[in-house]
Amino acid sequence: MILEAPSALEQELNPWLAAEARFNEAARRLNLDDGMRKVLATPARELTVHFPVTLDDGRLEVFTGYRVQHSIARGPGKGGIRFAPDVTLDEVRALASWMTWKCAVVNIPFGGAKGGVICDPRLLSQFELERLTRRYTAEIIDFIGPESDVPAPDMNTNEQTMAWIMDTYSMHQRHTVTAVVTGKPLDLGGSQGRPEATGRGCLIVSLQALKRLGKNPEDARVVIQGFGNVGGMAAKLMARAGLKVVCIIECDGAVYNKEGLNIPKLLEHRKETGSITDFEGGENIDKDEAMFLDCDILVPAAKENVITTQNAARIRAKILCEGANGPTTAAADEILAERKIFVIPDILANAGGVTVSYFEWVQDRQGFFWNEALVNKRLEEIMVNSFGVVVEYAQKHNVNNRTAAYMVALDRVAFAVKLRGIYA
Ligand code: NAD
Repeated sequence: MILEAPSALEQELNPWLAAEARFNEAARRLNLDDGMRKVLATPARELTVHFPVTLDDGRLEVFTGYRVQHSIARGPGKGGIRFAPDVTLDEVRALASWMTWKCAVVNIPFGGAKGGVICDPRLLSQFELERLTRRYTAEIIDFIGPESDVPAPDMNTNEQTMAWIMDTYSMHQRHTVTAVVTGKPLDLGGSQGRPEATGRGCLIVSLQALKRLGKNPEDARVVIQGFGNVGGMAAKLMARAGLKVVCIIECDGAVYNKEGLNIPKLLEHRKETGSITDFEGGENIDKDEAMFLDCDILVPAAKENVITTQNAARIRAKILCEGANGPTTAAADEILAERKIFVIPDILANAGGVTVSYFEWVQDRQGFFWNEALVNKRLEEIMVNSFGVVVEYAQKHNVNNRTAAYMVALDRVAFAVKLRGIYA
């Protein structure tokens, strides 16, 4: 069989190639030597486990899981665990490195890690999912821990999954260890403010960007793609802060109101009807065109690869706040730069989530919990400061914000590696 070479568009949409392109650009500009480049580009540790799970009907099935620690130079590995049928080791590797850069940009003392199990959670019962989670945890138990690697939820995993992991780990330790995972339920050592954290981070950096561009938040029109955890929270908090959220785009349609949508009512409408469309406080518009509306802030908060070379020239937003991971392909970056769109790159814009995960880990280790106002205040301090560092770096070195964010991150990790020295 002759395999066809991937087309240019397929290559453009490959997130691992995109991550590599951005890494290489930042490493080149930083003049990183070959040795340090190799250290930063290579995951430190990778574990593959194959483990049996008894299904509800008594049959045995064998599942494959991974945990990759890309870097632990600045602290314990940090990163989610995903359950999906198409998880690959390559994907987990790339996502782990992404976490290294994200934690370094906001300067929290974590490295980067990621995990995954190949499975289709829709085909598994709750009991099967629990057994799978517990056995996977037991298989990777020597790898994870509050001081070594701290997992969190990701695609198809949630608070309940984290509770099972925490319990399994604690059973082996013979005492309760809440700090082994973040994203836990509030009653098991979770943090106030965690569900809103990523959306709140998007609001904070968007307000900073408006300020830089000399725009009044009350006049800012916002378009948000995705009305889930990140997009829904960002919409709610942005509307509450006085911005006009004029359009929400979802899988099944888009809704528009030039005066600004009433977000709490739209959330209620979706709860009642299962869709954002036919909302009485707005009009249905073409979901495939909505991303190209004239607006001040566009927040892609749904999935990766929505802004590509095929459509970047049509974006009319002044600010692009990347709530999702990887919404813009590397090849599209140049088009956005030519059009002078102010990009708040994903590793900064959506880092509010991992920042409050860090707070959760700190609170668990202290055994002393903060109120929501304190969580939000500390989140704001970190996001505002990180935004300032990235934007000033971009200006000083005459690079775009994304390259600046990667340069700040790579530089911090490289500095930690140098300071520590190479063992043996
Ligand atoms: P989610 O599943 O809660 O929400 C995603 C929403 O996007 C869903 O409502 C879905 O229907 C919608 N959607 C999917 N495809 C779409 C499309 N083509 N057009 C319009 N809408 C579409 O997920 P989430 O947790 O909000 O995550 C969204 C993105 O943000 C992902 O890229 C995720 O990796 C990233 N992210 C999430 C967090 C977090 O704390 N949840 C943190 C950092 C990054």
